[in-house]
Amino acid sequence: MLKLRNLFQNNQEFVKSRISKDPNYFQRLADAQDPLYLWIGCSDSRVPANEIVGLEPGELFVHRNVANLFPHTDFNCLSVLEFGVDLLKIQHVIICGHYGCSGVKAAMEDHRLGLVDNWLRNIRDVYAHFKDELEAIADPKERYNRLVELNVMQQVLNVCHTTIVQGAWIRNQPLWIHGWVYDIGTGGLKDLDCCVSGIDQVEQIYRIRLSKKDWLN
Ligand SMILES: [Zn+2]
Repeated sequence: MLKLRNLFQNNQEFVKSRISKDPNYFQRLADAQDPLYLWIGCSDSRVPANEIVGLEPGELFVHRNVANLFPHTDFNCLSVLEFGVDLLKIQHVIICGHYGCSGVKAAMEDHRLGLVDNWLRNIRDVYAHFKDELEAIADPKERYNRLVELNVMQQVLNVCHTTIVQGAWIRNQPLWIHGWVYDIGTGGLKDLDCCVSGIDQVEQIYRIRLSKKDWLN
């Protein structure tokens, strides 16, 4: 049986290196996590959440899927968000896409990939919504990059439309939803300046009438 010994060796090195700097490192982490941030990013192996923003284990709550989507009815996404907001009391949700995202590229093409095509339908919806803007961009790479950005902005809105986030705002729990893009080619992050931090910034049709009484924990 293949044992992947190299990964276990790496693990031993990791343990040694952490303990040499702080003998109580793992005990401290085992006691609790207290992250301020929830990262919703792509599964792409070139976009490692903690490393990009220089955060240690325990500092970033992470959810990743193909093309960093937050569909309204995905119980995986919703469960992570609820746990992060209601229990961990994270203060920032970061939706981070990346240029060169193969999920976004696949959504721009008509090849059949399989089950994932149904997942990527969410990005085709974004394309359809912004078709005029996208098709006015002559350069295919620039058009692709713009769809990466628009997809992130749509997921920011999807997060804001949940009862979880609106409930937090009604309880006056501080919560900011950010949209960023990571450039694999440079390692740099771009803030899309689409941050939302209150229910007054949510389009009326998506606001849920909730009383503080209903949403106090
Ligand atoms: Zn990707």
